[in-house]
Amino acid sequence: MIVLLSNDDGIQSEGLTALEMNLGHIGEIYTVAPDRAQSSMSHALTLHRPLRVQELAPRRLAVDGTPVDCVKLSLTGLLPVRPHLIISGINKGPNLGDDIIYSGTVSAAIEGALLGIPAIAVSLVTFKNFDFRAAAEFTATLVDRIVERGIPPKTLLNVNVPAIPKQDIKGWQITRMGKRHYSETIVERIDPRGGKYYWIGGDDLGFANDDGTDCHAVNEGYVSVTPLQVDLTDYQLLQNSSLPKFPWPR
Ligand code: MN
Repeated sequence: MIVLLSNDDGIQSEGLTALEMNLGHIGEIYTVAPDRAQSSMSHALTLHRPLRVQELAPRRLAVDGTPVDCVKLSLTGLLPVRPHLIISGINKGPNLGDDIIYSGTVSAAIEGALLGIPAIAVSLVTFKNFDFRAAAEFTATLVDRIVERGIPPKTLLNVNVPAIPKQDIKGWQITRMGKRHYSETIVERIDPRGGKYYWIGGDDLGFANDDGTDCHAVNEGYVSVTPLQVDLTDYQLLQNSSLPKFPWPR
């Protein structure tokens, strides 16, 4: 099997290395990742400048672009083969609830799903003392299961692993997207030349602890696996439509 690895923390991230070290047994690994940190880049594509690719080792390429650039390039000519599976991560930090909208990690997997390749995004739910072992091991097990059973087309799996010792992880749950709370902080400062600048903050204020959500599962000590789709249509509203109906044009 051919697997493409990417991430949004950059090709130097230990989270990516952890995947490379734990997935060798499943086949041929290609790593194509940003040459620097690209967190919160969401689904950005670089269209207004060329992209440069640096071969750091055989089948290990750094791109001076976004996570989605990496996946798109990989699937449209950069690689000599078409991957059977894309794995993005392991991210240094959670991608729970609304994080998914901003996440470069998840978007790399979304790009895989858009282009018809099964994809997984994996995140470790901590911002310090990163120990990727349990997350990498779970990913390897999940991949074995996907090889057996597949995942539906256009679906990707968003995995969040609690940052607790492996023996304390209770198991794993299939979940839905939850809701995280961030403070709406913008820091305003003055630069050395007297000009104002702003820095987007956003302290973590916790989450809605609703049953069945990714946030809840991780908080309870489970690995969370959320199946995601790209179609953002509100089908509920579409069906029992309370949208106003009026003739147009008139
Ligand atoms: Mn990241």
